[in-house]
Amino acid sequence: MQAVVLEEFQEPLEVQEVDRPEPESDGVVARVEGCGVCRSDWHCWQGDWDWFGYRPDPPHILGHEPTGTVVDVGEDVENVEEGQEIAIPFNFACGKCDLCRNGRENICENHVGLGFMNEAPGAFAEEVHIPNADVNAVPLPDSIDAETAAGCGCRFMTSYHGMAHRGDVGRGEAVVVHGCGGIGLSAVHIANALGANVIGVDLMDDKLERAEELGAVATVNASDVDDPVKEVHDITDGGADVSVDALGIETTCRNAVDSLKKGGRHVQIGLTTSDEQGEVSLPTDEFVAKEIDFVGSLGLQPSRYSEMLDMIETGKLDPTALVEKTVDIHEVPDELDAMTDFNTVGIPVCTDFSS
Ligand SMILES: [Zn+2]
Ligand SMILES: [Zn+2]
Repeated sequence: MQAVVLEEFQEPLEVQEVDRPEPESDGVVARVEGCGVCRSDWHCWQGDWDWFGYRPDPPHILGHEPTGTVVDVGEDVENVEEGQEIAIPFNFACGKCDLCRNGRENICENHVGLGFMNEAPGAFAEEVHIPNADVNAVPLPDSIDAETAAGCGCRFMTSYHGMAHRGDVGRGEAVVVHGCGGIGLSAVHIANALGANVIGVDLMDDKLERAEELGAVATVNASDVDDPVKEVHDITDGGADVSVDALGIETTCRNAVDSLKKGGRHVQIGLTTSDEQGEVSLPTDEFVAKEIDFVGSLGLQPSRYSEMLDMIETGKLDPTALVEKTVDIHEVPDELDAMTDFNTVGIPVCTDFSS
Protein backbone atom coordinates (compact mmCIF):
# COMPACT_ATOMS: atom_id res chain seq x y z
CA MET A 1 0.00 0.00 0.00
CA GLN A 2 1.05 3.65 -0.32
CA ALA A 3 2.17 5.67 2.70
CA VAL A 4 3.93 8.96 3.49
CA VAL A 5 7.21 7.87 5.04
CA LEU A 6 9.62 9.92 7.13
CA GLU A 7 13.06 8.65 6.06
CA GLU A 8 15.18 11.41 7.56
CA PHE A 9 14.20 14.37 9.76
CA GLN A 10 13.77 17.63 7.82
CA GLU A 11 14.51 15.94 4.47
CA PRO A 12 11.77 15.82 1.79
CA LEU A 13 9.00 13.35 2.63
CA GLU A 14 8.16 10.60 0.15
CA VAL A 15 5.18 8.48 -0.77
CA GLN A 16 6.44 4.89 -0.70
CA GLU A 17 5.07 1.40 -1.19
CA VAL A 18 4.97 -0.40 2.19
CA ASP A 19 3.42 -3.61 3.60
CA ARG A 20 -0.19 -3.55 4.74
CA PRO A 21 -0.63 -3.83 8.53
CA GLU A 22 -1.88 -7.08 10.09
CA PRO A 23 -4.14 -6.82 13.15
CA GLU A 24 -2.73 -7.82 16.53
CA SER A 25 -5.05 -10.09 18.50
CA ASP A 26 -6.62 -7.08 20.31
CA GLY A 27 -6.34 -4.70 17.32
CA VAL A 28 -8.14 -3.86 14.11
CA VAL A 29 -6.99 -2.57 10.75
CA ALA A 30 -8.95 0.29 9.20
CA ARG A 31 -8.99 1.53 5.63
CA VAL A 32 -8.24 5.24 6.06
CA GLU A 33 -11.09 7.37 4.70
CA GLY A 34 -9.62 10.72 5.68
CA CYS A 35 -6.64 12.03 7.61
CA GLY A 36 -6.06 15.68 8.51
CA VAL A 37 -2.69 17.28 7.76
CA CYS A 38 -1.57 18.93 10.98
CA ARG A 39 1.24 21.08 12.36
CA SER A 40 2.03 18.20 14.71
CA ASP A 41 3.04 16.13 11.66
CA TRP A 42 5.31 19.00 10.71
CA HIS A 43 6.94 18.99 14.18
CA CYS A 44 7.45 15.23 14.00
CA TRP A 45 9.03 15.58 10.55
CA GLN A 46 11.38 18.27 11.91
CA GLY A 47 12.52 15.92 14.67
CA ASP A 48 11.09 18.13 17.42
CA TRP A 49 9.50 16.70 20.51
CA ASP A 50 12.09 14.18 21.67
CA TRP A 51 11.52 15.89 25.05
CA PHE A 52 7.89 14.76 24.73
CA GLY A 53 8.62 11.21 23.58
CA TYR A 54 7.24 11.96 20.10
CA ARG A 55 10.35 11.34 18.04
CA PRO A 56 10.09 8.05 16.14
CA ASP A 57 13.06 6.21 14.66
CA PRO A 58 12.88 6.55 10.86
CA PRO A 59 11.61 5.09 8.65
CA HIS A 60 8.19 5.89 10.09
CA ILE A 61 4.76 6.53 8.56
CA LEU A 62 3.40 9.95 9.58
CA GLY A 63 -0.26 10.91 10.09
CA HIS A 64 -2.34 10.94 13.26
CA GLU A 65 -5.82 12.31 12.41
CA PRO A 66 -7.62 9.43 10.70
CA THR A 67 -11.13 8.20 10.38
CA GLY A 68 -11.64 4.88 8.71
CA THR A 69 -13.64 1.77 7.98
CA VAL A 70 -12.69 -1.44 9.76
CA VAL A 71 -11.42 -4.04 7.28
CA ASP A 72 -9.72 -6.63 9.51
CA VAL A 73 -10.44 -7.58 13.14
CA GLY A 74 -8.12 -9.31 15.64
CA GLU A 75 -9.42 -12.51 17.25
CA ASP A 76 -9.79 -11.05 20.76
CA VAL A 77 -11.68 -7.88 19.76
CA GLU A 78 -15.25 -7.90 21.07
CA ASN A 79 -16.88 -4.55 20.28
CA VAL A 80 -15.65 -3.58 16.84
CA GLU A 81 -16.85 -5.20 13.63
CA GLU A 82 -15.70 -5.32 10.05
CA GLY A 83 -17.37 -2.59 8.00
CA GLN A 84 -17.85 -0.26 10.97
CA GLU A 85 -16.90 3.39 10.45
CA ILE A 86 -14.72 4.66 13.28
CA ALA A 87 -13.04 7.77 14.59
CA ILE A 88 -9.48 7.07 15.69
CA PRO A 89 -7.95 9.16 18.52
CA PHE A 90 -4.18 9.66 18.21
CA ASN A 91 -3.85 9.00 21.97
CA PHE A 92 -3.92 5.20 22.11
CA ALA A 93 -4.63 3.84 25.59
CA CYS A 94 -4.27 0.50 27.37
CA GLY A 95 -7.68 0.52 29.03
CA LYS A 96 -6.27 -1.19 32.13
CA CYS A 97 -4.21 1.34 34.12
CA ASP A 98 -5.71 3.45 36.91
CA LEU A 99 -5.90 6.54 34.68
CA CYS A 100 -7.78 4.62 32.00
CA ARG A 101 -10.10 3.10 34.60
CA ASN A 102 -10.81 6.60 35.90
CA GLY A 103 -11.80 7.96 32.50
CA ARG A 104 -8.48 9.62 31.68
CA GLU A 105 -7.40 7.34 28.82
CA ASN A 106 -5.92 10.31 26.95
CA ILE A 107 -3.08 10.39 29.51
CA CYS A 108 -2.87 6.59 29.92
CA GLU A 109 0.25 5.34 31.74
CA ASN A 110 0.98 3.30 28.62
CA HIS A 111 0.19 6.11 26.15
CA VAL A 112 1.15 5.48 22.53
CA GLY A 113 0.96 8.41 20.11
CA LEU A 114 -0.27 7.34 16.67
CA GLY A 115 2.19 8.47 14.01
CA PHE A 116 4.56 9.86 16.64
CA MET A 117 5.97 6.71 18.27
CA ASN A 118 7.62 3.57 16.90
CA GLU A 119 4.82 1.38 18.27
CA ALA A 120 2.18 3.06 16.09
CA PRO A 121 2.90 3.67 12.39
CA GLY A 122 0.77 6.58 11.23
CA ALA A 123 -2.25 7.06 9.02
CA PHE A 124 -1.06 8.83 5.87
CA ALA A 125 -1.51 5.39 4.38
CA GLU A 126 -4.17 3.27 2.74
CA GLU A 127 -4.60 1.32 5.98
CA VAL A 128 -3.75 1.87 9.65
CA HIS A 129 -3.55 -0.45 12.67
CA ILE A 130 -5.43 0.41 15.86
CA PRO A 131 -4.16 -1.49 18.93
CA ASN A 132 -6.49 -2.41 21.77
CA ALA A 133 -9.41 -1.57 19.51
CA ASP A 134 -12.16 -2.11 22.08
CA VAL A 135 -10.83 1.03 23.80
CA ASN A 136 -9.28 2.98 20.95
CA ALA A 137 -11.71 2.61 18.03
CA VAL A 138 -14.70 4.94 18.44
CA PRO A 139 -17.74 3.82 16.41
CA LEU A 140 -19.35 6.69 14.49
CA PRO A 141 -23.13 7.18 14.41
CA ASP A 142 -24.73 6.63 10.99
CA SER A 143 -25.68 10.30 10.73
CA ILE A 144 -22.05 11.45 10.71
CA ASP A 145 -20.59 10.89 7.27
CA ALA A 146 -16.94 10.16 6.53
CA GLU A 147 -16.27 13.69 5.33
CA THR A 148 -17.54 15.22 8.57
CA ALA A 149 -15.72 12.67 10.67
CA ALA A 150 -12.49 13.37 8.78
CA GLY A 151 -12.63 16.89 10.20
CA CYS A 152 -12.60 15.54 13.78
CA GLY A 153 -8.87 14.84 13.85
CA CYS A 154 -6.51 15.76 16.65
CA ARG A 155 -6.91 19.52 16.38
CA PHE A 156 -10.68 19.32 16.69
CA MET A 157 -10.98 16.67 19.39
CA THR A 158 -8.03 18.14 21.29
CA SER A 159 -9.67 21.56 21.23
CA TYR A 160 -12.95 20.03 22.37
CA HIS A 161 -11.27 18.49 25.42
CA GLY A 162 -9.37 21.73 26.07
CA MET A 163 -12.46 23.93 25.94
CA ALA A 164 -15.21 21.67 27.29
CA HIS A 165 -13.28 19.75 29.96
CA ARG A 166 -9.94 21.29 30.91
CA GLY A 167 -10.96 24.94 30.40
CA ASP A 168 -14.53 24.24 31.52
CA VAL A 169 -15.65 27.11 29.29
CA GLY A 170 -19.07 28.41 30.19
CA ARG A 171 -21.78 30.74 28.96
CA GLY A 172 -20.80 34.37 28.53
CA GLU A 173 -17.17 33.87 29.49
CA ALA A 174 -14.48 35.75 27.60
CA VAL A 175 -12.12 33.26 25.96
CA VAL A 176 -8.98 34.48 24.18
CA VAL A 177 -7.30 32.13 21.71
CA HIS A 178 -3.67 32.92 20.87
CA GLY A 179 -2.65 31.36 17.55
CA CYS A 180 -5.37 30.70 14.97
CA GLY A 181 -3.99 27.67 13.15
CA GLY A 182 -6.00 24.45 13.03
CA ILE A 183 -6.14 24.00 16.80
CA GLY A 184 -6.83 27.66 17.48
CA LEU A 185 -9.63 27.94 14.91
CA SER A 186 -11.18 24.76 16.30
CA ALA A 187 -10.98 26.23 19.80
CA VAL A 188 -12.70 29.41 18.57
CA HIS A 189 -15.53 27.40 16.99
CA ILE A 190 -15.98 25.08 19.99
CA ALA A 191 -15.78 27.79 22.68
CA ASN A 192 -18.35 29.79 20.71
CA ALA A 193 -20.65 26.76 20.59
CA LEU A 194 -20.25 26.39 24.36
CA GLY A 195 -21.57 29.92 24.80
CA ALA A 196 -18.36 31.91 25.27
CA ASN A 197 -17.43 35.26 23.74
CA VAL A 198 -14.25 34.44 21.86
CA ILE A 199 -11.35 36.70 20.85
CA GLY A 200 -8.86 35.42 18.28
CA VAL A 201 -5.25 36.62 18.22
CA ASP A 202 -2.86 35.90 15.34
CA LEU A 203 -0.34 37.57 13.04
CA MET A 204 -2.25 36.92 9.82
CA ASP A 205 -5.44 38.68 8.71
CA ASP A 206 -6.80 35.75 6.73
CA LYS A 207 -6.62 33.50 9.80
CA LEU A 208 -8.40 36.16 11.83
CA GLU A 209 -11.11 36.43 9.16
CA ARG A 210 -11.65 32.67 9.48
CA ALA A 211 -11.82 33.09 13.25
CA GLU A 212 -14.62 35.65 12.82
CA GLU A 213 -16.47 33.35 10.41
CA LEU A 214 -16.21 30.63 13.07
CA GLY A 215 -17.73 32.81 15.77
CA ALA A 216 -15.04 35.11 17.21
CA VAL A 217 -16.65 38.33 18.46
CA ALA A 218 -13.36 40.23 18.16
CA THR A 219 -9.88 39.66 16.75
CA VAL A 220 -6.45 41.17 17.34
CA ASN A 221 -3.69 41.17 14.73
CA ALA A 222 -0.65 41.08 17.01
CA SER A 223 1.59 42.49 14.28
CA ASP A 224 -0.57 45.62 13.95
CA VAL A 225 -0.62 46.66 17.61
CA ASP A 226 2.06 47.57 20.15
CA ASP A 227 0.78 45.21 22.81
CA PRO A 228 -1.76 42.47 21.98
CA VAL A 229 -2.19 41.74 25.71
CA LYS A 230 -3.37 45.31 26.34
CA GLU A 231 -5.77 45.00 23.39
CA VAL A 232 -7.32 41.91 24.97
CA HIS A 233 -7.63 43.66 28.34
CA ASP A 234 -9.31 46.63 26.60
CA ILE A 235 -11.75 44.45 24.63
CA THR A 236 -12.68 42.39 27.71
CA ASP A 237 -12.67 45.32 30.08
CA GLY A 238 -10.10 43.83 32.41
CA GLY A 239 -8.93 40.49 31.04
CA ALA A 240 -10.21 37.16 29.76
CA ASP A 241 -11.76 34.41 31.89
CA VAL A 242 -10.00 31.73 29.87
CA SER A 243 -6.87 31.93 27.71
CA VAL A 244 -5.63 29.36 25.24
CA ASP A 245 -2.15 28.93 23.83
CA ALA A 246 -2.95 27.00 20.69
CA LEU A 247 0.51 27.36 19.15
CA GLY A 248 3.12 26.61 21.78
CA ILE A 249 5.76 29.25 21.27
CA GLU A 250 7.08 31.40 24.12
CA THR A 251 5.35 34.56 22.87
CA THR A 252 1.87 33.04 22.54
CA CYS A 253 2.12 31.24 25.88
CA ARG A 254 3.25 34.33 27.72
CA ASN A 255 0.74 36.59 25.98
CA ALA A 256 -2.05 34.13 26.73
CA VAL A 257 -1.44 33.98 30.48
CA ASP A 258 -0.94 37.75 30.59
CA SER A 259 -4.35 38.18 28.90
CA LEU A 260 -6.18 36.74 31.91
CA LYS A 261 -8.07 38.61 34.57
CA LYS A 262 -7.82 37.66 38.24
CA GLY A 263 -9.07 34.16 38.86
CA GLY A 264 -8.61 33.25 35.18
CA ARG A 265 -7.75 29.87 33.70
CA HIS A 266 -5.07 29.18 31.11
CA VAL A 267 -5.30 26.12 28.85
CA GLN A 268 -2.03 25.01 27.27
CA ILE A 269 -2.75 22.97 24.14
CA GLY A 270 0.18 23.77 21.84
CA LEU A 271 3.43 21.88 22.40
CA THR A 272 6.58 23.98 22.16
CA THR A 273 9.06 24.12 19.30
CA SER A 274 12.79 23.49 18.98
CA ASP A 275 13.33 27.03 20.28
CA GLU A 276 11.72 26.36 23.67
CA GLN A 277 12.47 22.61 23.96
CA GLY A 278 9.48 22.11 26.22
CA GLU A 279 10.07 24.99 28.63
CA VAL A 280 8.73 28.55 28.82
CA SER A 281 9.40 30.98 31.66
CA LEU A 282 6.19 32.20 33.32
CA PRO A 283 5.17 34.86 35.91
CA THR A 284 4.54 32.47 38.79
CA ASP A 285 4.12 35.18 41.43
CA GLU A 286 1.31 36.66 39.36
CA PHE A 287 -0.30 33.23 39.31
CA VAL A 288 -0.30 33.42 43.10
CA ALA A 289 -1.50 37.01 43.35
CA LYS A 290 -4.27 36.50 40.78
CA GLU A 291 -5.03 32.85 41.59
CA ILE A 292 -4.45 31.86 37.98
CA ASP A 293 -5.01 28.21 37.03
CA PHE A 294 -2.64 26.80 34.41
CA VAL A 295 -3.81 23.51 32.94
CA GLY A 296 -2.46 21.28 30.18
CA SER A 297 -4.73 19.51 27.73
CA LEU A 298 -3.89 16.43 25.65
CA GLY A 299 -6.15 14.80 23.07
CA LEU A 300 -9.57 13.50 24.07
CA GLN A 301 -10.59 10.35 25.92
CA PRO A 302 -12.29 7.82 23.61
CA SER A 303 -14.94 7.43 26.33
CA ARG A 304 -15.91 11.10 25.95
CA TYR A 305 -16.12 11.28 22.16
CA SER A 306 -19.88 10.80 22.40
CA GLU A 307 -20.35 14.32 23.83
CA MET A 308 -18.55 15.87 20.88
CA LEU A 309 -20.30 13.60 18.37
CA ASP A 310 -23.68 14.54 19.87
CA MET A 311 -22.90 18.23 19.34
CA ILE A 312 -21.89 17.46 15.75
CA GLU A 313 -25.10 15.47 15.16
CA THR A 314 -27.24 18.36 16.39
CA GLY A 315 -25.33 20.86 14.25
CA LYS A 316 -23.85 22.86 17.13
CA LEU A 317 -20.39 21.85 16.01
CA ASP A 318 -19.34 21.47 12.39
CA PRO A 319 -15.83 20.08 11.85
CA THR A 320 -16.17 20.55 8.09
CA ALA A 321 -16.14 24.32 8.66
CA LEU A 322 -12.44 23.98 9.49
CA VAL A 323 -11.53 21.91 6.45
CA GLU A 324 -9.88 24.16 3.90
CA LYS A 325 -9.49 21.60 1.11
CA THR A 326 -9.07 17.93 0.38
CA VAL A 327 -5.84 16.55 -1.08
CA ASP A 328 -4.47 13.20 -2.23
CA ILE A 329 -1.59 11.36 -0.60
CA HIS A 330 0.96 12.71 -3.09
CA GLU A 331 0.14 16.28 -2.02
CA VAL A 332 0.69 15.66 1.70
CA PRO A 333 4.48 16.33 1.63
CA ASP A 334 3.91 19.72 -0.04
CA GLU A 335 1.16 20.63 2.45
CA LEU A 336 3.55 19.94 5.32
CA ASP A 337 6.31 21.87 3.58
CA ALA A 338 4.01 24.93 3.32
CA MET A 339 3.66 24.92 7.12
CA THR A 340 7.33 25.86 7.47
CA ASP A 341 6.37 29.46 6.70
CA PHE A 342 2.96 29.29 8.43
CA ASN A 343 1.62 29.55 4.90
CA THR A 344 -1.65 27.67 5.43
CA VAL A 345 -5.14 28.61 6.61
CA GLY A 346 -7.50 26.03 8.11
CA ILE A 347 -6.96 22.34 7.63
CA PRO A 348 -6.19 20.24 4.59
CA VAL A 349 -7.56 16.69 4.80
CA CYS A 350 -6.13 13.83 2.75
CA THR A 351 -9.00 11.73 1.39
CA ASP A 352 -7.38 9.79 -1.47
CA PHE A 353 -4.66 7.33 -0.55
CA SER A 354 -4.53 5.00 -3.55
CA SER A 355 -4.28 7.33 -6.57
ZN1 LIG B 1 -4.06 3.03 30.46
ZN1 LIG C 1 -3.02 16.87 14.68
